[in-house]
Amino acid sequence: QYLSRIADHQHLNVFTEVYADEARCRADELDTSRATQTATPGRLHGMVIGIKDVLSYAGHDLRAGSRILDGFEAQFTATAIERLLAEDAIIIGRQNCDEFAMGSSNENSAFGPVRNAADPTRVPGGSSGGSAVAVQAGLCLASIGSDTGGSVRQPAAFCGVVGLKPTYGRVSRWGLVAYASSFDCIGPIANTPTDAALLLEVMAGPDEFDSTVSSQPVDTYASPLEREQPARIAYLIDGIESEGVSPAVREATQRAIDTLRAAGHVVEPVTLSLLKHLLPTYYVLTTAEASSNLSRFDGVRYGHRATEGVTDLISMYKKSRTEGFGPEVRKRILLGTFALSASYYDAYYTKAQQVRRLVRDETERVFAQYDFLIMPTTPTPAFILGEKSADPLQMYLADIFTVQANVTGYPAISIPNGTDPNGDGPALPIGLQLMAPPFKERALVTMAETYL
Ligand code: GLN
Repeated sequence: QYLSRIADHQHLNVFTEVYADEARCRADELDTSRATQTATPGRLHGMVIGIKDVLSYAGHDLRAGSRILDGFEAQFTATAIERLLAEDAIIIGRQNCDEFAMGSSNENSAFGPVRNAADPTRVPGGSSGGSAVAVQAGLCLASIGSDTGGSVRQPAAFCGVVGLKPTYGRVSRWGLVAYASSFDCIGPIANTPTDAALLLEVMAGPDEFDSTVSSQPVDTYASPLEREQPARIAYLIDGIESEGVSPAVREATQRAIDTLRAAGHVVEPVTLSLLKHLLPTYYVLTTAEASSNLSRFDGVRYGHRATEGVTDLISMYKKSRTEGFGPEVRKRILLGTFALSASYYDAYYTKAQQVRRLVRDETERVFAQYDFLIMPTTPTPAFILGEKSADPLQMYLADIFTVQANVTGYPAISIPNGTDPNGDGPALPIGLQLMAPPFKERALVTMAETYL
């Protein structure tokens, strides 16, 4: 069923590779083992999952949406994917994404843009655009994406599905192509918070291959918590009142606040004094980390190597990288190199690290008083393809509400929150974001599943 749906939805450009034969074989094997009762069925028995093209899967190509990885095949399997397979999931294919997960619209992929199934003239969001549309269009039951500044939540919001970014360090990053290592999180995209939680339960937990992974015990995220008292919920005033927030998003967010109040929760407004510093902080730090992480793509160790006009080793590096990386990735490597250069390091990198700490402190102060913080996932619904391509600052604003969770490492979920009727066009999904303190994913999912 999924394979035929994939064939019918080629125009959305979701999958860069479909493992048709392999997936069918595995499904047969799982059916046989069930019928003959040779093994206890895993917790994800037969669940059909797609993976973003930044996750290593041994014996399969890996491109990270980039030409620089042309011809590269993964040598090992990401811990998160290994764990899904161990619970009998079926991996159906590799999903299109922005190059090295840099983008908010999936227009930065070397394999062409992904289209939003609600309106194919619009972007799906990014960078896990293919992964979100795959769930939206029913091309698999769930997807695994990565979220460095919103890449799971923002496309989930644009596509009317659920995206969960866990606490930093909850899921091992082993086998995830690095963008900004102190921000990167692997996270599920699914139809319901409970499905996303089940995938998190399976993927989470200690791993000897990632030294930043947490040793906190993994909770049963998919089974709801009993709640004895009303929750204390803060909502971000800017999420409602700020100029950039579209009227439909504002109304939808207000309705969610009213629903939560009607359910007996305490819902109060808060401000974040550092809100306007979030994106600059995020972009200084992530480009700095990216410039270092992406230095390994040098034409020698992986993928594409330039041959024409190459005279010596340095010219081979330069030509390979110039030909292999797309414009957004090149721009970010330059920005990050600048921020880390000897004369500007203190002015940019050190300062951004200090602001990062202040953002965390301010976020901790909010959560000293509240159990959750809510706001729209994005200021507007999905925009038209090409609309923001010429204006990077406008594009970066799509992440204004999502980056806080990555700057601080807090967990957050985006859930569908109605639609923008959008005049004569097709209705466009709107997302609501809930954030919770570190390792409170179970409470987060319970709130998302039960009250909204
Ligand atoms: N859109 C943001 C960026 O371009 C976030 C991307 C992500 O989370 N990977 O950096």
